[in-house]
Formats: sequence, C-alpha cells, structure tokens
Amino acid sequence: MKLFHIVAVATFSIAAAGAGHAQEKVLNLYSARHYQTDEALYANFTKQTGIKINRIEAGENELLERLKNEGANSPADVFITVDAARLAKADELKLFAPIQSKILEERIPAHLRTKDWFAFSTRARVIVYNKASVKAENVQNYEDLADPKLKGKICVRSGSHPYNLSLGASVLERLGEQKTEEWAKGIVANLARAPKGGDTDQIRSAAAGECGVAIANSYYVARLMRSEKAEDKKVMEAVAVVWPNQKTSGAHINISGGGVLKHAPNKEAAVKFLEYLVSDQAQIYFADGNNEWPVVKGVKTQNSALASLGSFKAEAMNVSALAKNQAVVQKIYDRAGWK
Ligand code: FE
Repeated sequence: MKLFHIVAVATFSIAAAGAGHAQEKVLNLYSARHYQTDEALYANFTKQTGIKINRIEAGENELLERLKNEGANSPADVFITVDAARLAKADELKLFAPIQSKILEERIPAHLRTKDWFAFSTRARVIVYNKASVKAENVQNYEDLADPKLKGKICVRSGSHPYNLSLGASVLERLGEQKTEEWAKGIVANLARAPKGGDTDQIRSAAAGECGVAIANSYYVARLMRSEKAEDKKVMEAVAVVWPNQKTSGAHINISGGGVLKHAPNKEAAVKFLEYLVSDQAQIYFADGNNEWPVVKGVKTQNSALASLGSFKAEAMNVSALAKNQAVVQKIYDRAGWK
C-alpha cells in the first residue's frame, strides 16, 4: 500500500494560488514519479522560466482518483506518471487536453506520443536469468517464456500490473489474441511460484535460485548494477540480462510520460513545462533520474549502468497500440489465470 505523501509546501501553495495570487506564474504538477534527481529537473525549469512548480506526489491511482474527484475545479496543470498503461487510464478518464506543440512534435518520435500525452523517457522490459540453472539460448525471446522447457522456472509480478499488461499489449499487437492467450497460459504453467512483489524481487529470486528466470524493467536491473551493497553485487553476479526478441521485433519498450490536464488553470505554463522536458538538459535529468533512456535522439545519458548494458534493438511500436490493448490483455490474463 503506497501512502499518499503530499509535498507539504506544495499543498499550501496550490491553495494559495487558487486564492488569487494571479501575478505569480505557477505550474501545478501532479506527479507519480518519486525520484530524488527530479528535484534538479524542477528547479532548473523555475530558473529558466520564472514559473514556480507546486508539486503533489502520490501513487498513480491516488492521483487519478483525486483528479476525478476534483473535476473542473482541479488546480492541476500537468500529470506525469510511468507506463503507457497508466497514461492510457488517465486518457480513458478524459483527463487530458490535446496539445499541439511544434517542439514536442519535432523532439519526440511519432511512435512515442499521442495527441493527448507524450513520452519523455523509455525503458525496456527484459529477461533476467540465473546463469547456473538456465541456458541463455532458452530465454532469448518473450515467446520462449511460454515454452515447457522453462517449467517451474519463471518469477514474475502480478498479471494485473501495468508493466505486464503493457508487455501483453505488445505481444497482442504482434501475434493476435489467440497466440497471446496461449503465451499467457504458457507463462502461468511455467511459474515457479504465485506472482508476488515487484520487479526487483523477481530478480533477487532468480539470483537466489528460487526460480531461474525473471521479467523486469531495465531500470531495476540498472539500479542493482549501480548499487554499492554487497548483497546486490552478489545478485548481479548470479544473473545475466537478455534483450529479448533481437532477431525479430525487438525488446518491448515502455515509457514514462505525461500530459496537460483538461481543466489546467495554467495551460501556457503547462505546455512550456512539457516542452522543457524534451530539452537536452531535462532529458538527461529525466532519464538518468530513473536509469532510463531519453526519447530525444542524440541526447546521451550519463549513466554508467546503462552504458555497460549497451545498445539493443528496441521495438518501434506506437504507444497508442499499447494503450488500446490494455483491456483485452487483462481479460486474456484473467482467463489464463495470471493473477
Ligand atoms: Fe517501476
């Protein structure tokens, strides 16, 4: 259970802003990102534009609930979160205002934006395996995870989690409904244990030998790689990382992103903020803050773990495909028993 941790100062400021400090330029940001490094990202925006950021941080579901309840009276200008599944949810609730911005169009590749929301960094969903108990050749593709060869070997978090729904959405887009269901059933049949915990827990379990294969987002791998803790170093010594589907569709890519809210009182500042997020400097902050990759071409991260993970073939699927397939995938997972 994630606590609703409001940035205390921000709550006061948002209330005050609503009470008529019209001359002060502000941006009210609802964020489901909680990374230390984002502080510098926000401070730099204020320095560049003079626009003060009032930020409310909470879990995605809490923020969506809050936005729904606030309705037309919401002080929020921008909503940012991670995973296309969650942005799709916000979009379904019709929370976003469509934005036209030359800068966003030019800087963000077409497949990483919709008219309502935009990606600012990318992550890959990768396969991690225990080098002692699993052969690399058996875990090269997402499809391999359904192969009976891996019976009793797979550790993965809940099928209802956005990360797995988006992965399924990508499989569905490529292979169709029937094959996706067979795939999901194959994974369930191969589970080492009932799904529990987050991606890092799966990697740890694979390293400990509780299972042989874990599915995890790339930044969790990078985080463990950068860790100074002896136990984490041991974990990373026991496992290897696979970029899946390198000979076919490429690794499934998801995003972190956001959009301008329909009832934004400070729409101009909101667009400015999104445009700022695709500036070179912000891209580095934004992506490195969570060990992700920038969406803007040519911007280099300064991240040793990402550098040592190297380059790979990424799936160039449109994020709106990931969004539209969510509901069908959830039904498929339910039928397959991926709890
Ligand atoms: Fe995550």
